[in-house]
Amino acid sequence: MRALVSVSDKRGIEAFAAGLVEFGFEIISTGHTARTLATAGVPVRPVSDVTGFPEILGGRVKTLHPAIHAGILARRDDPDHMAALDVHGIAPIDLVVVNLYPFSETITRPDVTLAEAIEQIDIGGPAMVRAAAKNHPSVLVVVSPDDYDAVLTALRTETVTPELRRRLAARAFAHTAAYDAAIAGYLSGELFPETLPLAFRKAQDLRYGENPHQRAALYGDFHAFFEQLHGRELSYINILDIAAAQSLIEEFDPAAGAALAIVKHTNPCGAGVGATPLEAWEKAFATDREAPFGGIIAVNQMLDLPLAQAIDEIFSEIVIAPAFADDALALLRKKKNRRLMRALRPVGQSRGLVYHSVPGGILAQEPDLAPLDEEPFEVVTQRTPTDAERAALQFAWRIVKHVKSNAIVFAAADRTLGIGAGQMSRVDSTRVAVWKAQNAGLSLAGSVIASDALFPFPDSVEIAAEAGATAVIQPGGSVRDDEVIAAANRLGMAMVFTGRRHFLH
Ligand code: 5GP
Repeated sequence: MRALVSVSDKRGIEAFAAGLVEFGFEIISTGHTARTLATAGVPVRPVSDVTGFPEILGGRVKTLHPAIHAGILARRDDPDHMAALDVHGIAPIDLVVVNLYPFSETITRPDVTLAEAIEQIDIGGPAMVRAAAKNHPSVLVVVSPDDYDAVLTALRTETVTPELRRRLAARAFAHTAAYDAAIAGYLSGELFPETLPLAFRKAQDLRYGENPHQRAALYGDFHAFFEQLHGRELSYINILDIAAAQSLIEEFDPAAGAALAIVKHTNPCGAGVGATPLEAWEKAFATDREAPFGGIIAVNQMLDLPLAQAIDEIFSEIVIAPAFADDALALLRKKKNRRLMRALRPVGQSRGLVYHSVPGGILAQEPDLAPLDEEPFEVVTQRTPTDAERAALQFAWRIVKHVKSNAIVFAAADRTLGIGAGQMSRVDSTRVAVWKAQNAGLSLAGSVIASDALFPFPDSVEIAAEAGATAVIQPGGSVRDDEVIAAANRLGMAMVFTGRRHFLH
């Protein structure tokens, strides 16, 4: 029996190949993979030995050879096929273990050139994967390290069934289809909705969905963005909240200071910035001391012991940080039902699309990543914002983008003061935000207000002024803009139009 092993992602390959050798497989392999296996002491034969041809063109041609492809494609139940192999001295290949050049990982690098991306288009790999998957009644095809254990177990228990072969073949075609979809999407520079579902591979089943009676699963590459350091398995809602909290905190450059947000049901309860993570926490927590119970905390700097001690006082489902100090980690690990997540890379740079399911299909859109700094900041009132108001408006605008519509945020330059989320009317979101600030014992005197979309009427501005706000930021664009601006002028407020809306549903 012969196995061809050629993998870019070399995770777990040594143990898997060693397992195959125990089952009597002869391993043939390409350049780097062969070297990795040989170094680990696994007996391996170079593909060039089998083809009688060296790898050429810098690896572009390694396995593209009849000795390989006929070995994979020959039907074992077809005497003509087997006779042809004999005539040409080709040995059949029974197992193909291939994963492809890391194209998607390459194109997520912000500085990648077209030439570098093109070099990461795997040719021989997909050819072998597709050949093996086509001939799956005779050839096992393995495209993911996640399947190594299952394959070894099936070999050991002699349960390599036709169903298993077909399942692996289906995975293989999904793998090459997603791969080509990524290339097509990259080269066209466009959204590729018709190929999108192929980009999804099931990562894991989840215990349940939003509610215990709903079955659920996670698809795609979420685990490439977060490493779970502690705690029970993530739930469906945990994953949604992690995504929301992390995309909010990425608004704040860690080099400019510590920022911290507390999130519940994907909405921020509070956010703050400060000289230290602890200071940012104190400001964020002051916004609302009730809702954060069981919430999600995301911080943009290393989570240190003082912050760990502070957040240990209340129960949080999840804590996310780019790094944890050893003593902080030791403390936070003491609670079993607290999940600790290390943010590995920016979620905003994932280039993924945002989906919502609709009857019969999905909606796909680009994420709302447009840099806020590049938006217009057009003063439309008689009064121009003071420096302090300007700083507060900029802070509030960063936060309001991450609050479910209709979204209203009252803020100072370094903290949220009142957040109104998800109301069906904007004025209700304003009332909720004012009420929450009062409930938290916070004064809105001298605060600013941000609105994720235009004010259809002057009412919200009037309520904000009455509560003490002195400046407003909003996209503008209402048919009643004149009335809204007139109200602001009458109330002595400064108002800024950004020209860009940030609905979030
Ligand atoms: P290695 O790291 O072993 O040198 O190369 C492994 C990678 O090469 C795998 O990702 C596999 O899909 C790819 N590969 C195998 N044969 C060929 C080929 O003939 N042409 C190209 N472009 N890639 C190949």
